[in-house]
Amino acid sequence: MTNLNKSEKVAVPTKGSQKSSKKLNIGWFYPHFLNLYGDRGNVEILKERALRCDIEVEVFEISLETTLDASLMNKLNLVFMGGGPDLSQQKIYKDFLDKKGSFLVDFLEANGVGLFICGSYQLLGNYYKSADGSILEGLGFLDFYTEAREGPRSIGNAVATLHEDILSDIYFQKNNTIGDEIVGFENHGGRTYLSGDLTPLATTTKAFGNNSRDTTEGVLYKNTLGTYFHGPVLARNPHLADFLIAKALGIEELAKLDDSVIVSAHARSKELAR
Ligand code: GLN
Repeated sequence: MTNLNKSEKVAVPTKGSQKSSKKLNIGWFYPHFLNLYGDRGNVEILKERALRCDIEVEVFEISLETTLDASLMNKLNLVFMGGGPDLSQQKIYKDFLDKKGSFLVDFLEANGVGLFICGSYQLLGNYYKSADGSILEGLGFLDFYTEAREGPRSIGNAVATLHEDILSDIYFQKNNTIGDEIVGFENHGGRTYLSGDLTPLATTTKAFGNNSRDTTEGVLYKNTLGTYFHGPVLARNPHLADFLIAKALGIEELAKLDDSVIVSAHARSKELAR
């Protein structure tokens, strides 16, 4: 399922065998290039929520100059990549494919937890045809493609219902105090088409989602989540943030935080015009 040659194997917990651990090590890829519409806030939210649950956190920034190897990947239990304009995607994609991709694929295939927003989500697929017509080869980790077509960009407030595979996951159920939907904000020119055997992360309720047509939003593969939702998405959707933390650490139920303000912001977001 990948264009890449496999390199050294990365040992990450496999499903059902995750050991309970009290330290969250986040690998944050290309923080200076892929940080659109406050996507860095996702890392802040993961960090803050984990700390409030008495979970120690360390963030490893992985960028162009970082020599990624199996020993660094082995430390991580969650990876994050934000969105970016076409120019930023063009700047990092070769390094991503040649120097980072095989480690990431090993990690994700072995059920490592990953969240990829918009521009980075697009790079997990087969290719991204950007607005100027140039083709950026993708990681080929998942069988989909993205093309920036003629016509208006997909911009607006967004709501979608999470896929049953997440809704039925015990790590989600035990940490979900909000409901089945996610809210966010999208701004993308790319339209993504998933191959038939891929599962979307969600179904659009009020959103353009992957391609404005088939009601799919994002992708879900093992513990890899791709989404077009900015927001930052985890700030507006604490149930999703806690799902990722819980899954990454193999802790079924996290301590319940006082989310009253976020819960009302989440609810009001659904009423915003697209
Ligand atoms: N450049 C990509 C697009 O326009 C991704 C944008 C983004 O990350 N918001 O589709």
